[in-house]
Amino acid sequence: MKRADAAPLAIYDTLSREVREVVASDSQVVRIYCCGPTVYRDAHIGNLRTFLLADLVRRRLEFSGLKVKLVQNITDVGHMSEDFEEDKIIAASKAERRDPYSIAREYEERFHRDCHALNIAPADLYPRASECISLMIDAISKLMAEGFAYKGEDGSVYFDATQFESYGALSGNRLDALKPGHRYEFTEAGAKKFHADWALWKAAGNRREMIWDTPWGNGFPGWHIECTAMSLEYLGGKFDLHIGGIDLRFPHHENERAQSNPLIESANGDEAVTLWLHGEHLLFEGRKMSKSSGNVVLVKDVVERGIDPLALRFCFMENRYRSQMDLSWSSLQAAHLVLERWRKSYQEWLTKPAIHSELVGKKVAEIAHHFGEDLDTPQVMLKLRAVEKSTLEPGEKRALFEAIDPLLGLNLLQIRTSRELPDQAKKLIDERAKARRDRDFAKSDELRDQLAALGIEVRDTSGGQEWSWRIN
Ligand code: AMP
Ligand code: ZN
Repeated sequence: MKRADAAPLAIYDTLSREVREVVASDSQVVRIYCCGPTVYRDAHIGNLRTFLLADLVRRRLEFSGLKVKLVQNITDVGHMSEDFEEDKIIAASKAERRDPYSIAREYEERFHRDCHALNIAPADLYPRASECISLMIDAISKLMAEGFAYKGEDGSVYFDATQFESYGALSGNRLDALKPGHRYEFTEAGAKKFHADWALWKAAGNRREMIWDTPWGNGFPGWHIECTAMSLEYLGGKFDLHIGGIDLRFPHHENERAQSNPLIESANGDEAVTLWLHGEHLLFEGRKMSKSSGNVVLVKDVVERGIDPLALRFCFMENRYRSQMDLSWSSLQAAHLVLERWRKSYQEWLTKPAIHSELVGKKVAEIAHHFGEDLDTPQVMLKLRAVEKSTLEPGEKRALFEAIDPLLGLNLLQIRTSRELPDQAKKLIDERAKARRDRDFAKSDELRDQLAALGIEVRDTSGGQEWSWRIN
């Protein structure tokens, strides 16, 4: 049941700093761009929180009968490591002694698999940066022709930040307050005119892989121009909503805005992007999620503990996208149990005919309303929790779940078997049984700890070893 009459979706727009309605500016399709993954490693569950944001927006818009076109890029070239020493894909290619394209394709595949596990509906298009180089060359040529970009002494092409008057409007960083010494890309003395300028195109230097010929010589693109070129091309010049994690607000999106605005056909200083939506970061067990701090959790880790990956979706929805969120194993396990209980209840309600009463209609509208109010999913989840205990008839509860599940994407209508023991845990349990038979108690204790790390508790009884899922 789609609710064409449902209230629209409003979100907090980073540029105007106001909550504003998301609309299709061409009156037909809401055009959305979400910055995609850099495919040199698995996406962690923090990245997935941000990718889910685009899915929540999309589901909510479609729920109210709107059409959506979502484009998400695959960054397989040009994203430099934090110290700007090396392209992330090339660094991974050296470390793994593999062709950079084969690395990129593998992680791209795994990104799709992880999104699928979280019920994130596929974007309409996933352009790869390495396959859109001519679009970037065109965009850079245009910016150079219009005086927004110049070739530096090192052969790279730079955007001239001082030429874009409202630089800083998105992030609040004023150009005159940005001091040299901040980490900006390519700060070789003399190459740039101004310290806040950034590279649109980088001269190849010693690099031999992933380089292309251009009117300015061999080289490779900067990360920010990728998104400008791909979003404008595939969303038709000007679009309605741009989504990304909060860390992209500056410099990535600030620079993107400065590059994109001069490229759209507009005489009156229109914005290329109408609304900017940024999601806050995910922490795990109180710590920042990053490779360097060794605190990275993947979808695979969740599955290995026998937790339904949709428990991630559940937990993300219990927190507002605009707040930093601290996730833990215990909240994931609790979410798993609730999902299991709801699915079981639904199977019981299914024995009754669905009753589409007025009250059900009212509750569905309420849930959609909260969802539309700057994605107030915590309120949505509260309402949903209340359904279970409410005095609604089983047939009404059934109708409500059926109406709302396409919006939530929690697969509440599916039967899931109880948590199956993952293969890795089965192996450890067998090994532990053998260690006990061999009276190797040190090994058996070690295996018990390994199982505990997977959330599994083992007890030794007179009948042998027994296991259960740990509740906390
Ligand atoms: P990357 O693959 O590193 O380019 O990041 C993909 C997306 O994940 C970007 O939109 C980032 O802003 C976002 N992101 C990175 N770290 C986190 C985190 N800990 N929590 C939420 N989103 C994140
Ligand atoms: Zn981007």
